[in-house]
Amino acid sequence: MSKIKLGIIGYGNLGKGVEEQLQFNTDIELIGVFSRRDPKTVSASCPVFHMDDLVGMKKDLDVVLLCGGSATDIPEQAPVLQEHFTTVNAYDNHAAIPAHFNSLDEIARRQKNVAIVATGWDPGLFSLNRLIAEAILPKGETYTFWGKGVSQGHSDAIRRVAGVKRGVQYTIPNEALIQKIRDGKEVVYTKTASHKRVCYVVADEGADEAAITHTISTMKDYFADYETEVHFIDEATFDRDHSGIPHGGHVLRRGYTGEDTQAVYELNVNLGSNPGFTAAVMVAYARAAFRLAREGNYGAKSVFDVAPSYLSPKTPEELRKELL
Ligand code: NDP
Repeated sequence: MSKIKLGIIGYGNLGKGVEEQLQFNTDIELIGVFSRRDPKTVSASCPVFHMDDLVGMKKDLDVVLLCGGSATDIPEQAPVLQEHFTTVNAYDNHAAIPAHFNSLDEIARRQKNVAIVATGWDPGLFSLNRLIAEAILPKGETYTFWGKGVSQGHSDAIRRVAGVKRGVQYTIPNEALIQKIRDGKEVVYTKTASHKRVCYVVADEGADEAAITHTISTMKDYFADYETEVHFIDEATFDRDHSGIPHGGHVLRRGYTGEDTQAVYELNVNLGSNPGFTAAVMVAYARAAFRLAREGNYGAKSVFDVAPSYLSPKTPEELRKELL
């Protein structure tokens, strides 16, 4: 069977993560990386092309993975690229996902291609597990905790703030609250009580630190609802203490299967590399996008709309035999 031909759009952490995953996904062939930068300045293990050459290579690509940032890249690039390609993204601006979905759905139906939006782990796998837990335990409460770890989406948002040279954001969950839920206890869960957002910033020389702190802590959909700390550090400290991109988190649902009988459903992920894992999820959804497009099941999809067997390189027969 011929391989799925894949393009990586944008070569940052996520783009590099996708490239790395393909050694474990032998049914997929990486055609190349497409960057807005001069290809000569981008070093990858596969051919690097300029974005301007992408549409001309339409026939060579089955699916493109949009690996740009959610703050500005995906809103700009996704509608344009959807006119030509089946796409998968890991867009993580939760509040804006429904509108993003609708805009790509219109284009994908018109162009007879597929867009799988907001894959990754949250949104993505966490969303799917929230849905499953809620459907199975209709009486109950769902809780999501992130971290301790670096949030790429929030770090990306910080780096777009004027005066910020480098920036990273750690999400810190309230472990005591998590344990109470596991123990079947009622808890009061609010965004502020459940997490803190701690930012480390290297500012441009002469930048107004108070203004940067204000812009970050009031950023809608990202920081405004959370207790946020912004710390300014020098570049050497940033390199020494903040170079890795680990993450993790929990989806918990405390529900009832009887009047007084509780069940706690929990998904945990512990990620050595957030972009590596996000990329791994995107690659599985690239396989699904390819199959949906081949079947003529066009339009935008979220993780809720994709049957699990579409993610696996195995046949449905193999899956029934090995995993049921
Ligand atoms: P990066 O900031 O590393 O990359 C974003 C884009 O910036 C790249 O695609 C690239 O585009 C450009 N870029 C990268 N490096 C350079 C450079 N040295 N100089 C100039 N431009 C550069 O972001 P990440 O890859 O870390 O994250 C991308 C998005 O992934 C996040 O915004 C977040 O929304 C999403 N995400 C989603 C998750 C989920 O679970 N759904 C989880 C984690 C992340 P180009 O090559 O065209 O220049």
